[in-house]
Amino acid sequence: MKYGRKRVLVTGGAGFLGSHLCERLLAEGCDVLCADNFFTGSKDNIAHLMGNPYFELIRHDVTFPLYVEVDEIYNLACPASPIHYQRDPVQTTKTSVHGAINMLGLAKRIDAKIFQASTSEVYGDPEVHPQVEEYRGSVNTIGPRACYDEGKRCAETLFFDYHRQHGTRIKVARIFNTYGPRMHPDDGRVVSNFIVQALEGRDITIYGDGSQTRSFCYCDDLIEGFVRLMNSGDDVTGPINLGNPGEFTMIELAEAVLRLTKSTSKLVFLPLPADDPRQRQPNITKAREALGWAPTIPLEEGLQRTIEYFRNKVG
Ligand code: NAD
Ligand code: UDP
Ligand code: UDP
Repeated sequence: MKYGRKRVLVTGGAGFLGSHLCERLLAEGCDVLCADNFFTGSKDNIAHLMGNPYFELIRHDVTFPLYVEVDEIYNLACPASPIHYQRDPVQTTKTSVHGAINMLGLAKRIDAKIFQASTSEVYGDPEVHPQVEEYRGSVNTIGPRACYDEGKRCAETLFFDYHRQHGTRIKVARIFNTYGPRMHPDDGRVVSNFIVQALEGRDITIYGDGSQTRSFCYCDDLIEGFVRLMNSGDDVTGPINLGNPGEFTMIELAEAVLRLTKSTSKLVFLPLPADDPRQRQPNITKAREALGWAPTIPLEEGLQRTIEYFRNKVG
């Protein structure tokens, strides 16, 4: 560290998870540089940080080189919701792959530690349940989700090759579905969709028969995992699953949202999108052992907090 404060770059820092991470790092006394092209993120997510002299925002697309001096890099830049990452699939792959190359090149030049926001999507539609890090995944390379899944898989490959070839200090987290305040109301992901629909009294859109499962982690728990992984010893490279093992069907999620919002919205059933994974649940043994980390916020409590946020947004 050159100065008293740790200098940290957060790419995608104006997004849902990135904004929570910037907030957390500032609270810890870091000097935070947020780089974002506002593809899905927004200045609203970070407006409350703008007065802080240790927070700096630059409009930047990670597919272009970036020359800055920092101690740590969190690489989160990438749209995460299927409707957004499929809008411009070529740009999605470029963001993951060129973005990883540029941020790794930066990390190599300045000898910074670098964290990659990878995803449970690297497991595709998994045949192994719950998913362990050793499972190599089942991804359709030519399907509509591949721009995201394969982009993230290639980014992991680049991280491990920079580590082996150049000794770059890497931290790769495989993030499972995470929700919370500052998800975009039009984000298209299931938790924000169901909450906004319930609050507005519109039909709840279940894709398929609603028996597919996901495991939902509250954002604060996840960010704690990010910071613990970054602060772990250099031998802890990951990939490491971060998520909440509590597994729910989409019908169960819809019922929980209806109960907590006291909404009278009806469930409607729409076609299941192509390549939609049937089930998903993280095995978090590695995170427990290497980081002493496990989620602490149950689904109902996290949903309650998220509902409060959306009440103010859509009300
Ligand atoms: P988000 O869409 O809210 O945030 C992504 C941010 O990256 C946005 O601010 C967007 O403007 C920015 N961005 C996109 N392309 C960029 C580019 N080329 N250059 C610079 N900035 C760019 O999504 P999120 O949920 O906060 O996800 C953050 C990261 O975590 C993503 O990498 C995502 O793949 C990963 N992830 C999230 C989840 C989840 O459930 N939220 C699960 C797995 C992985
Ligand atoms: N790069 C960057 N910032 C830096 C150093 C590198 O954005 O401070 C980018 C640059 O675009 C480069 C890429 O990272 O092409 C990979 O860098 P590396 O040194 O690994 O390979 P190079 O392409 O320079 O041979
Ligand atoms: N889903 C749904 N209704 C919606 C949005 C999503 O039933 O309005 C389903 C979707 O088909 C998937 C699950 O919810 O099976 C999670 O979708 P999301 O896009 O949130 O995350 P991902 O599929 O990337 O895990």
